[in-house]
Amino acid sequence: MATPAYMNPDRINHLTIHCAATPEGRDVKAATISQWDVAKFGQVSYHIVVELDGSAVRTLADDRRGAHVGGRNTGNIGICYVGGVDRRGVPKDTRTPAQREALRRLVAEYRARYPDIGVRGHRDWPGVAKACPSFDVASAL
Ligand SMILES: [Zn+2]
Repeated sequence: MATPAYMNPDRINHLTIHCAATPEGRDVKAATISQWDVAKFGQVSYHIVVELDGSAVRTLADDRRGAHVGGRNTGNIGICYVGGVDRRGVPKDTRTPAQREALRRLVAEYRARYPDIGVRGHRDWPGVAKACPSFDVASAL
């Protein structure tokens, strides 16, 4: 697997929220998501994965470039929660209470460290035709 490129942690200016697009209630672990990403993209995609129980698992250091928004990964932290679709695969906000709390806490921590950081959902990036992360980040976080 390719070593993720260096990313200057002093120049982090975006934080993007994702969902794993795994079915509601399926307890997929962060390590599994990283394995899928390495198989698909050749590297770990996200910096942090939030599991169903609210565990925020560090999957990539903040000085490493992720692979989570096409062409916009430099300076961009990626946080992914497990879930995001219903049992038929239709986009749905499946965040558990523990995941909601963890996402709020993580966003607050990054905002404290990087006051000018822009926080948005994957789907809020221009040209992205996806439902990810299946909720409105601007109003929820
Ligand atoms: Zn996404």
